[in-house]
Amino acid sequence: MYIGGTDIGGTKIEFSIFQVLEQTAGSGCMEMSLGNSTRYLRPVAVKRCPTERALGYEKVMENFAALVRNTCEEGGIAVSDLKGIGIGLPGTVCPIRKTMINGNTQIFVGRDITGDLSHLLGGTRVEVDNDANCFALAEVLAGAGVQYRRDTGRPLNKQLALGVILGTGVGAGLCIGSTVITGRNGAAGEVGHTELVTGGHACYCGKNGCTEMYLSGPAIEGAYASRMYSQIAERPAAHQIFEMAAAKEPLAIALVKQHQRQLAKFFANLSNLLDLDYIVCGGGLSKQPAIYEGLEALIARDTYTPGYSPKIYKHQLGDSAGGIGAALLCV
Ligand SMILES: [Zn+2]
Repeated sequence: MYIGGTDIGGTKIEFSIFQVLEQTAGSGCMEMSLGNSTRYLRPVAVKRCPTERALGYEKVMENFAALVRNTCEEGGIAVSDLKGIGIGLPGTVCPIRKTMINGNTQIFVGRDITGDLSHLLGGTRVEVDNDANCFALAEVLAGAGVQYRRDTGRPLNKQLALGVILGTGVGAGLCIGSTVITGRNGAAGEVGHTELVTGGHACYCGKNGCTEMYLSGPAIEGAYASRMYSQIAERPAAHQIFEMAAAKEPLAIALVKQHQRQLAKFFANLSNLLDLDYIVCGGGLSKQPAIYEGLEALIARDTYTPGYSPKIYKHQLGDSAGGIGAALLCV
């Protein structure tokens, strides 16, 4: 069985094809839990193209359809060999109509992406979900979930897990076993807009003190820039602030510490609601080793269950998790 998946980004689309196998085909194959059995995902082909968002929705769909055809050709299969194509979208996806309700990429809002793309590709099945949900699904089935089962012996169908994106924004996908919880409106896991600081910074969503205003990459960049004010020529990127902290720059150290305290509080709140097995972190900030140092001990101070912290994992599948999870929507 062949499946394809993509995480539609702002500037590029990357499409990957995988083969689902019952036996491993050697290096490069990913172990995956599926129901009560183990399967293997073999990467077959991957290609990228520019999104060209500025040219409009129809052009983006045409680019994507061409990319699917080219990737199939490279992988030596026909488009009709694909059991389906999954797409991770940067916004809330209605679980009934399968359209994007909101998000920062306006051109996709309200569009019939599944129908339009299927039409361009001769009736191929197309599935869509929120990109954080796709990330969580991939990590649960083929990344952190496999690791957690090895670490604790707890089978996949008992695992309650959250995949949290700490990047340009903050979002999450919640999984019980291999089921992604979408909620009434597809907005389950929109944890970036839960309040972390009462009366805090104004958020674009219209509320104040949202988690995203404190734990995202732009949040830590803004905090650094506002404190340095006119003393810096240009605003450092989040990863540079972590590098400065590692080089003992006092303000960067203070901000990284504050970020971790707030992250621990946020994760403890989520765990008090859900009593999670584990949280797996993705997005740009999740690549920083400093966020994990002592984090579980900090969380354990704030959880209601004395001394308990869910396991905290860094993403195991790298930047391709979103595309893998999208493909897995079709299994
Ligand atoms: Zn908000």
